[in-house]
Parts: sequence; C-alpha cells; structure tokens
Amino acid sequence: MNELPLITVVGGGPAGLRCAALVAREGFETTVLEEHSTVGRPVQCAGLISRTGLKELDIGLNEEDFSVNKIFGAKIFSPRGEKLQVKSRKPVALVIDRFRFDQLLYRQAVKEGVAVKLGSKLIDFTWSSLFIETRGHGELYKSKVVVGADGTNSVIRHSMHPGIGGESFVHALQYRAEGSFDPKMVELYFGKYAKGFFAWVIPESDRIARIGLGVRVGQGVEKCMRIFLHEKKLGARPLSKSSSLIPIREPLKKNMENNVLLLGDAAFQTKATTGGGIVMGLNAAKAAAESIANHMKHGSPLKEYEKNLSAVNKELSIHWKIHSYIHSLKEDSLDKLSVKAKKAGLEGFLEEYGDMDKPSTFVKKMLLKPKLWGLAPIALRFIMH
Ligand SMILES: Cc1cc2nc3c(=O)[nH]c(=O)nc-3n(C[C@H](O)[C@H](O)[C@H](O)COP(=O)(O)OP(=O)(O)OC[C@H]3O[C@@H](n4cnc5c(N)ncnc54)[C@H](O)[C@@H]3O)c2cc1C
Repeated sequence: MNELPLITVVGGGPAGLRCAALVAREGFETTVLEEHSTVGRPVQCAGLISRTGLKELDIGLNEEDFSVNKIFGAKIFSPRGEKLQVKSRKPVALVIDRFRFDQLLYRQAVKEGVAVKLGSKLIDFTWSSLFIETRGHGELYKSKVVVGADGTNSVIRHSMHPGIGGESFVHALQYRAEGSFDPKMVELYFGKYAKGFFAWVIPESDRIARIGLGVRVGQGVEKCMRIFLHEKKLGARPLSKSSSLIPIREPLKKNMENNVLLLGDAAFQTKATTGGGIVMGLNAAKAAAESIANHMKHGSPLKEYEKNLSAVNKELSIHWKIHSYIHSLKEDSLDKLSVKAKKAGLEGFLEEYGDMDKPSTFVKKMLLKPKLWGLAPIALRFIMH
C-alpha cells in the first residue's frame, strides 16, 4: 500500500481547498484529490453569497476578483403572489463567478504548499485505506487523517452514514438565461411547482440571470420548471442549463469517526432555507483545519472538530427549523403568514437586522420588537431546542 502525505482531503471544492490551505499553512504535508481535471468545473451553483459572511471568513480574496454583480435585497413571493420585499441601501450580497472563485481558492492552496492531484478519484473507502483511480490506473493508499470534502454524493459520507437516502436532497435545475431583470434584487418564489423548496431568479445584470428551481427528489424537476416558467411569464431565453442535487436536512450529529472528518456539502453544511453552502462550508473548513492542526501538534483528539463546529451547527439547525416550518404550511397558510409578516413590519426589520447566514441573531432580536410579537410564537420555535 502507498503512503499519502499526512493529511488527505478528498474533493477540491471551496471547503476542501480552504481546509487544505489552512492545514498546510501550519506546516503539515497535505494533498487534495480532485476527480476532475480542472478545479471549479462543472459549475453547479447560483453563486449568491452574503458580503458579511464573506468578510467574516477573512479568506484573503478581493471580492472584485470574483464578483459579477452586487445585490441589494430580495423579493419573496408567496404561492398566490403576496410580495415581501427586503431592500437595503448598501449591497448585501454578491453574485459570484463560481469557477473563478474556486480557481482563486485553488491557487491559494497551492501557494500554501498543498499538492492538488487533479483527475484523481476516490473510488472506495475503508477506515484504513483509500482506493484511488488516476487516469485509468487504480491504487490503494493510506493516510493519517482523511477529510471527506467530496460534495453531495460523498463516498466517505456513504461509509459513515449509509442510511441517508434521497429524501435528504433537493433536485435543482438551473438556467443561465437572457431576458429583462432587476439587476439589484434576487427573486424567490414559493408554490406548488417547487414543492419542498422554491424557485429563484438571481441576476448577473439587467440582461442575464440564473433562473433555478428545486424540488424534493423524485418530483420531476424538468416538469416543475416548465410550469414555473409558464406561470410566472419571465420571458427569459435559456442560454445554458445545469442540474444537480442540494443536500437539505438537519445537521449531522456525527461529523467525524476514527481519523476521518466530513466537511462541506458532504456533511450537509448547507443552509436548509436557501441551499447556500459556500459560507457555511468555508467556516466549517476553518473548524476542521484547527482540529487537525491541534491533533498533529499536540495530540488532541480529532473529535474536537465536533466542538469547533458548534457555532456552524447552531445556525444550520435554525435554518433547518425555519425550512421545516415553512414547508409544513399549506399554500393559503403561507400566503396568510406573508401578509401577517408584512403588516407586522418584518420587511423593515430584516432590512435592518437580517443576516442570511446567521438567523440566530435576528430571530432573537425579533422578540425584542413589540410590533413583531405577533410572530413571536413562530420565532420561538426556531430558537428553542
Ligand atoms: C443549483 C445549486 C445552486 C446553489 N446556489 C448556491 C448559492 O447561491 N450560494 C451558496 O452559497 N451555495 C449554493 N449552492 C451550494 C454550493 O454550491 C455548495 O454548498 C458548495 O459548492 C459546497 O462546497 P464543497 O467544497 O463542500 O463541495 P463541492 O463544491 O461540491 O466540491 C466537492 C468536490 O469534490 C470532488 N469530488 C466529488 N467526489 C469525488 C471523489 N470521489 N474523488 C475525488 N473528488 C471528488 C468534486 O469534483 C468537487 O470538486 C448551490 C448548489 C446548487 C446545486
């Protein structure tokens, strides 16, 4: 059996690359195995990230190098078209070029000394060995620490959590399309056509947008998209199309076992409300890298990762509760909730306090605003254990 360097990260997406870069910075030999021959392709993402989330990550990248548009707010449509609009004076989110973003993280990792093996695919995994195929050639390896950052269909997660099936995923279809769009606002649509999730319009400019829709697996995403486009008459002309899965479930209770850590989409570190996983995955990458470095330097147990993940998991858990609540409502209840929230002044409140990555902060603040007390029973269920 061949020896890989001390730390092996499977998956060269944002989470894996960031974790590898931080571990290598601490002086440990680190390898990333990436099945594709180019980092960042294919792109399967709407590319919306919050500016605060990005700033707090402190990843040392300049947003101008990967941003394609700045977003000031969101229009959220209930099934019967009730609109909630949250708009700030300053840009709150970025629409990013995901390929460019991943490439920048790749270059950072290489600069820190990470060996990135492109075209290397993990085929099978046992606790003591990794079976890897590189350009038609298979070999067995072992490594002291393994990070499973191998995305939605993670081979490593399948070993650790064999019981997780299709019910934990949303099937998403997205077009890059030409048309006429509000370049400053994203649009979210809830309705029968997107059962269990929603549809979105994320503008790159006033002429190009990423139009997507997610439904629970098995609901026929193509048909749902046709119904959505027909109903909303967006008048957009598709330029390209992608289809993929988004992991949507409550946070995993077990993110590590033996010498193996799960990270990013592989660990369901996506916000269940929106499917966004870039900021969460990068935060978790920091937690993983800290645990690995402490383990290597001081012999502290790798289990520290679970503790280091607690802030990320707290937010993920609130996202899951909000998602579960919204999707438990019948269509007319969702319409009524939308009207009630609007009357209570939720739009203005979210403009001031909303943070799409940290619902814990604004849910608690909601309870301090007398005008919003009508929504308090709902808010409370999101923060109670
Ligand atoms: C339609 C859609 C829209 C989205 N929109 C947003 C959004 O607007 N904002 C946001 O924040 N997030 C969004 N997401 C989620 C976001 O794309 C993911 O959360 C993010 O990419 C997760 O990063 P990761 O590094 O964990 O995994 P990935 O980016 O999936 O990277 C995993 C890597 O592992 C590699 N890999 C997989 N299996 C193996 C193997 N066996 N061997 C070797 N390599 C392997 C893959 O090739 C890939 O490069 C969206 C997702 C989808 C599907």
